[in-house]
Amino acid sequence: MENRKILMVGAHLDDIEFGLGGSLARYSTVNTIRAIVLCNGRSAEDSTHRKKAFVENMLELKIPHQIFEIPDLTLHNNFREVVSILQEEVNTYMPDVVFGPCESDLHRDHQVVGESLRLTCRPIRKCSVREFYQYKIPGSSDWSFIEHHFNVGFDISKYIETKVKLCRRYIGEIKEDDTHPCSLSGIKITNESDGKIFGFNYCEVARLIFKRD
Ligand SMILES: [Zn+2]
Repeated sequence: MENRKILMVGAHLDDIEFGLGGSLARYSTVNTIRAIVLCNGRSAEDSTHRKKAFVENMLELKIPHQIFEIPDLTLHNNFREVVSILQEEVNTYMPDVVFGPCESDLHRDHQVVGESLRLTCRPIRKCSVREFYQYKIPGSSDWSFIEHHFNVGFDISKYIETKVKLCRRYIGEIKEDDTHPCSLSGIKITNESDGKIFGFNYCEVARLIFKRD
């Protein structure tokens, strides 16, 4: 993927890096990327450290970014606002490619963002979006126990350590328990396991919702 205008959307601070941190590092130098996150955390303290991690990550990768100040777990009560924010992003940034969470994830906020993006990216003539993906997020896509049919793999073999570095900044979100999908080893093993499906050492996956050319 090169010379594209990409919009990366996360419901939460950590979604983008946990799901697509390697791809973000790989593609940020050869594409124009903007990263946005709808929620600002579960509490003031949680918000402070997660915002710090996200901003440090985006500055390191030189990716323009924005955090919208909606509390975690409330997106379903703010559906109109979420759709309005995302519509404005699509209208003004005019991305070619959009990545968002899966509407069949376990987390309700992911569902709301997934559903809202489906609405705001629908391929009408005046819409800029040419490719629309929903990406896998550890600890949510897996725990819905719903088959997501991820059919696109992004080779992050050269970027797995960069991804680990980005994820490690989310001190409260990275679990110590190695059996947890959001432990550092859990994230790496997921990417390694998905690599086996696509013929790579490490791979991040998404589902292509539509593509038009
Ligand atoms: Zn999330």
